Amino acid sequence: MLKYLDEYRDKDLAQNLVAQINYASKKSIRIMEVCGGHTMAIRKYGIQNLLPPTIKLLSGPGCPVCVTSRSFIDKAIAYSAMPDIIITTYGDLMRVPGTSSSLLKEKARGADVRIVVSTLDAVKIAKENPEKTVIFLGIGFETTTPPTAIAVLEASKIKLKNFLILSAHKLMPPAMAALIDEGTLIDAYIGPGHVSTIAGSKIYKPLVNQYDISVVISGFEPVDILQSIWMLVKQIESGIPSVEIQYSRAVSQEGNLKAQNLVNDVFEPCTAFWRGLGAIPKSGLKLKPEYNSFEAESLLPLEIAEKPEPKGCLCGQILKGQKIPTDCKLFGKTCTPEKPVGACMVSDEGTCAAYFKYNDY
Ligand code: SF4
Repeated sequence: MLKYLDEYRDKDLAQNLVAQINYASKKSIRIMEVCGGHTMAIRKYGIQNLLPPTIKLLSGPGCPVCVTSRSFIDKAIAYSAMPDIIITTYGDLMRVPGTSSSLLKEKARGADVRIVVSTLDAVKIAKENPEKTVIFLGIGFETTTPPTAIAVLEASKIKLKNFLILSAHKLMPPAMAALIDEGTLIDAYIGPGHVSTIAGSKIYKPLVNQYDISVVISGFEPVDILQSIWMLVKQIESGIPSVEIQYSRAVSQEGNLKAQNLVNDVFEPCTAFWRGLGAIPKSGLKLKPEYNSFEAESLLPLEIAEKPEPKGCLCGQILKGQKIPTDCKLFGKTCTPEKPVGACMVSDEGTCAAYFKYNDY
């Protein structure tokens, strides 16, 4: 295993891997990365330009902000307009467009929306403001769910009555399966590094068994990604798909059992609505019945339907790997990171933002 960051960016190592990929790759294949961090790294280092024409890279639904539905943002905005409510959220959700506004715009208009860096900060705000109700917006995949579980357990332990969760937490494997079911042509997945650190490589085994698809869990440096592509090419050429771990310095087969137990104690699977992908059974997490008193939608019910994406925005197809940002007529014109029209341009990990930032057009 390499020891130092420089080695993961070593030009000779990278060139050697490119040569190995070129030598090994015979069949035309489509490889999807389902982690926004990988999308950014691929574009930043121009990895797509180093590969032989047999390999096409696709970007998938791995940016947690990008797949958060418009109705979730609309709900958060509706809550923020209610009296005596404080919305707490990670900062990257602030600029995500809902149907007609964003949390940032609502904050500018006077809504009490506060950015937190830790879920326990949200609990602290609830403790300090007993006359208000504090709602934490829980988004993200397997990586960000354990901290939300910790906040619920802490609120339960200290018997907080004014702390609620609006959960849009999601599970990655059901979305990876849904893309294949829907007809996106994918031969292999570059497995998400951070998700797998928590959940372990074992979560992809059913996917491999059901779809004969190859998965290699990758780190985020250029040598990591090239080595992962090489491993995928070798799997496909040998005709034996499996789950392999390239990112072995952070990922194991079992993952972080303590974090998994925390999540299993507090959450249970539910159908979730993904921006662009629609409703996917068992791809989301909701609080277990014993924690119902912390569930915002149970205590403060709201009926808000999912609305279509803004006219011309192709985020849905981009998140499915069926279009690329430059297919969108709004890209770089009316839609830029400063004035995003769709969610894929908002987040640092969004595919449109990655193409824009690295002038990949
Ligand atoms: S460029 Fe903007 S409008 Fe077009 S798909 Fe991307 S985010 Fe949506």
